[in-house]
Amino acid sequence: MQDYILRGTAMNDFIRFFISTTKNIVATSQKIHGTTPVATAALGRLLTAGSMMGAMLKNDTDLLTLIIKGDGPLGGVTVTSDSRSHVKGYVNNPTADIPEKAAGKLNVGGAIGAGMLTVIKDLGLKEPVSGQTALVSGEIAEDITYYYATSEQTPSAVMLGVLIDRDYTVKQAGGIILQVMPGANDEILTHLENVMGSLPTFTSLLDEGKSPEDILAIIFSGYDYTIYDKIQPEYYCNCTREKTKSALQSIGKEELSAILKEDNGANLHCHFCNKDYFFNSDEIGDLISASK
Ligand code: ZN
Repeated sequence: MQDYILRGTAMNDFIRFFISTTKNIVATSQKIHGTTPVATAALGRLLTAGSMMGAMLKNDTDLLTLIIKGDGPLGGVTVTSDSRSHVKGYVNNPTADIPEKAAGKLNVGGAIGAGMLTVIKDLGLKEPVSGQTALVSGEIAEDITYYYATSEQTPSAVMLGVLIDRDYTVKQAGGIILQVMPGANDEILTHLENVMGSLPTFTSLLDEGKSPEDILAIIFSGYDYTIYDKIQPEYYCNCTREKTKSALQSIGKEELSAILKEDNGANLHCHFCNKDYFFNSDEIGDLISASK
């Protein structure tokens, strides 16, 4: 099944929702980074959140970056998304591993540890807009819920899941973000609290064969809801040799001259797709002559 995100509103527009299935994105990230199951789950949950939060951006050129820094063995997780839900990400220590919490329960919170979540939105203004909150549990969904409540004053419900199969492949992945708009009454809040509290994990719903459409029907049973959009998210890195070259140029004449003197060239690594770009001494010489 292809990955997709549904966007819509419910309960007289007092709720907006994003719900997704993201198995292919998470499997791609696992293949690129060679992540352990717990690292796959951490990165996969943040990629799933990023793909939906990216879909909230208004303009084509807007960019979202989510950075989790923790004192656990994974070190940190970084994800970026554009408004078309092209996501990419990496884990600082992709091969870090810790024991499961219980049989089949990966300890994502323990692997991340205590730390901070930073959300940066580059909306084409002079300065990007950013917010930072302490991690609640490191399980990511709770951390994003807390970020929305405190940094954006938007009460939300967030579920994110990555289910790893016994052969370590990604079996299911997906999530949901529900946001409560100002003016929502107690009936709406009580219904959401009850239904979200009674749901099993998101990936167990997917694993029972339920689609995002089916899950919406469960959550909003007896209430109105409308799907406005079906978005195709994708793991996509937009790095190129040209872009990497101009990044290298931007370090300045002095630094470039030092590289030329000390090394035979420069190797630039893209953390998001693991591509390497090598520039030999002739190319660095050209960059120096082109620098002011
Ligand atoms: Zn790249």
